[in-house]
Amino acid sequence: MAAVFDLEKCVGCGICAKHCPEDIIVMGEDKKPLMKYPYECWYCGACYIDCPAQAVSLDLPLFMKFVPTPYVCEKPRKIRREY
Ligand code: SF4
Ligand code: SF4
Repeated sequence: MAAVFDLEKCVGCGICAKHCPEDIIVMGEDKKPLMKYPYECWYCGACYIDCPAQAVSLDLPLFMKFVPTPYVCEKPRKIRREY
């Protein structure tokens, strides 16, 4: 499923939809994000890293759970600033 949205935390800013390089996130009429094409996600992490409300988590495929990435580190926002 790739990106999973916590709609309780989501503030409806739309940043995840704007920053997704695959344009697979759309904003619904309720101003909440939806995965329009979930199987086209390539786990870049942009939606996860850029969400100001920390409302996005990534449901990584099994093989990615064993590879060190910013998504599974404890402080992804600090890591992003170092790039
Ligand atoms: S970036 Fe975060 S807060 Fe903004 S719409 Fe997406 S999930 Fe909601
Ligand atoms: S991980 Fe990347 S490709 Fe997948 S939904 Fe988020 S921004 Fe789009």
